[in-house]
Amino acid sequence: MNYVSTRGQAPRLGFEEAMLTGLARDGGLYVPESVPEMAPGDIAALAGVSYEEAALRVMRPFIGDAFSEAELEAAIAAAYRDFGHAARAPLKQLAPNHFLLELFHGPTLAFKDFAMQLIGQLFQTALARSGQRVTIVGATSGDTGSAAIEAFRGLPNVDVFILFPHGRVSEVQRRQMTTAPESNVHALALDGDFDDCQARVKDMFNDFAFRDAVSLAGVNSINWARVLAQVVYYFTAAVSLGAPHRQVGFTVPTGNFGDIYAGFIARRMGLPVGRLVIATNQNDILHRAISGGAYETGTVRPSISPSMDIQVSSNFERALFDAYGRDGQAVAQLMEELKSSGGFTISQGAIETLREVFTSGRASEDETLAAIRQIHAETGEVLCPHSAVGAHVARGHLGAMPMVTLATAHPAKFPDAVEQATGQRPALPPRMADLFDRPERVMRVENDLAVLQSLIRERISA
Ligand SMILES: *Cc1c(COP(=O)(O)O)cnc(C)c1O
Repeated sequence: MNYVSTRGQAPRLGFEEAMLTGLARDGGLYVPESVPEMAPGDIAALAGVSYEEAALRVMRPFIGDAFSEAELEAAIAAAYRDFGHAARAPLKQLAPNHFLLELFHGPTLAFKDFAMQLIGQLFQTALARSGQRVTIVGATSGDTGSAAIEAFRGLPNVDVFILFPHGRVSEVQRRQMTTAPESNVHALALDGDFDDCQARVKDMFNDFAFRDAVSLAGVNSINWARVLAQVVYYFTAAVSLGAPHRQVGFTVPTGNFGDIYAGFIARRMGLPVGRLVIATNQNDILHRAISGGAYETGTVRPSISPSMDIQVSSNFERALFDAYGRDGQAVAQLMEELKSSGGFTISQGAIETLREVFTSGRASEDETLAAIRQIHAETGEVLCPHSAVGAHVARGHLGAMPMVTLATAHPAKFPDAVEQATGQRPALPPRMADLFDRPERVMRVENDLAVLQSLIRERISA
């Protein structure tokens, strides 16, 4: 299985190289050259198997010979062993034909653990084989960084540096990044906002001399292996609700478009995904793009669902690549336009193609709080604000087809918003109740590329 860049100018890579690289050298994102299909009988046969077994069967064709069957099986087993729920991704019912897919039982209480735990294991397997070492650098508004640290802590051959905006992540998020005792973990509190963190990481990847000298690797949400790991739970959920004999819809709280793009891949593989609903908060660039046809960036307005506070939705480039008939040059042109003028209009043909699969909605701050309150009153379930954005939007799309809303984080990760809505402060699961007692280790850093680069060089040679 080979991977090509959405901008058509980077070398084709196998699965392992695409995973270790992250961002393509032409600035594009890696996508599979073709999407393998799964026969209806094979989809039906997923009914009742463990999450791990489903993961093996769904991901195997994308991996080719990059990892042996035994290596992949061992990586999957280790990745999900520490999840706090035997089903890994349990499905609950909220209302007639409305279901909630709980993706927050991993070690950092957000869905990002599904992908990050697995790529931690796959990195380790690949690096142990080659004797290579890599430096992972990532920017986070909170959830990605904690998931990456949790996945890579203590692994030989890897140093992980996470830049987060000083003073702008929740206390739970910060502690999840600063309390890992392992010396290969480096939590950096940057004097700036999330966009600054992301810009410095991009600068490092674009400095090819530095990139090669420290063997930079990226694990942000554009990494193909992360998307792939997320395809699995669309299968397990849909099969539980009657696929392949029945169509199932999904509503996905969306920021960088990674999670929902995984649903698109599941559909391309043959899973009967009847509808994919993009749910945004007040930062609604994707809702405006799908409903109006123009992709226009604005300024980020901080919300109570901060993991979806984005201006530019990186993975949307993958959907555009497909909608433009896999024309890398056309995508490169759109991205140039985005850079120079802050937006672009999606062609008539492409927007029609996108609308065959995707529809969209948004939730205001008040609607989000109201959804948490109502769903708590009606069902006893306590949703995090991101999941509540999803549930609000999903409720406008309920019908004959079962609808699954993805619950992307545990409510205890965002206790202030939940308390504001319900009057009750959600408790951390018992297995992490000591988070507030663990010592913190963090370095405050200037928003300066040269300073960051010399810090990284120093730390990895220590
Ligand atoms: C990252 C994140 C999202 C957005 O996911 P994307 O893949 O970027 O669309 C939604 N909710 C939570 C809790 C997250 O951490």
